[in-house]
Amino acid sequence: MDGMQHTYIPAGMASFAGACQSTLKTAIDCVGIGLHSGRRVQMALHPAAPDHGVVFRRTDLGRDIAARFDLVADTRLATVLADPNDPTVRVATVEHVMAALAGCGVDNALIEVDGPELPVLDGSAAHLVFLIDCAGIAAQDAPRRTIEVIRTVRVSDGDAFAELSPARPTEDGLELAMSIEFAATAIGRQALSLHLTPESFRQELSRARTFALAEDIDRLRAAGMARGGSLDNAVVVDAARVLNPGGLRMHDEFVRHKLLDAVGDLALAGGRLCARFTAHRSGHALNNRLLRALMADKSAWRTGIEMPVLVAA
Ligand SMILES: [Zn+2]
Repeated sequence: MDGMQHTYIPAGMASFAGACQSTLKTAIDCVGIGLHSGRRVQMALHPAAPDHGVVFRRTDLGRDIAARFDLVADTRLATVLADPNDPTVRVATVEHVMAALAGCGVDNALIEVDGPELPVLDGSAAHLVFLIDCAGIAAQDAPRRTIEVIRTVRVSDGDAFAELSPARPTEDGLELAMSIEFAATAIGRQALSLHLTPESFRQELSRARTFALAEDIDRLRAAGMARGGSLDNAVVVDAARVLNPGGLRMHDEFVRHKLLDAVGDLALAGGRLCARFTAHRSGHALNNRLLRALMADKSAWRTGIEMPVLVAA
């Protein structure tokens, strides 16, 4: 693996992990465009009661879809949730909103959207974290539910894989490690591992943007996708060059975005995962297959209630 840029970000200074569920203090909304549809969409984040989880509401249809791994209907370009009994009731590109909520430690929220795709904003979770911060986060009088991985589960596709294994006893929550490898030398090989906390999510992952290869964009557009995509909401790479005039936000922004996506995809588990996530070239499809494989194997996990844990550096 020589030549790979590998960064390890240790947990920060000692801090108490929250043991209570939380929601937003107040509702907040924004307007943006869908990455693939190019459609203008309005999205509103609302507080929700304990044990509500995250639910998406299509206000144009008057229908709700829970943010759950088993309701993922498409993973080719984004994570798409759909009602299994009515596939027209769908919400696409949920991963960045899910990542922002999970990354900020928000368990319960109702997300209203007036169309089939969430707004792409700047292609990262930064604006979503800003919205959550503006709304504020309120602790709720209910313990947070955890899903503790007790046996390793792994899925693969060629040399790509994703794995969930038991967390080390000294760890709390999710430990994440991702590596990627692209022929485009502007990306190349990158690896990053970190302990997911609200602080590490904000500092290390939230600002990393979606990326695309220039060679794929014409094909996507011909297929009616990426209509809302631009250099304002995605990093575009052409071999050794980053086409965005402002360049990258971090030198390894690509692997950081893949981890951001994984945080969002894993947030569909239905509880706070206590596990080590290790992946190479994993995307929405493998992330979802991994959760399905985990949940299908009842000997690989157990539910619990989060206890206050001192997280040491
Ligand atoms: Zn993404």
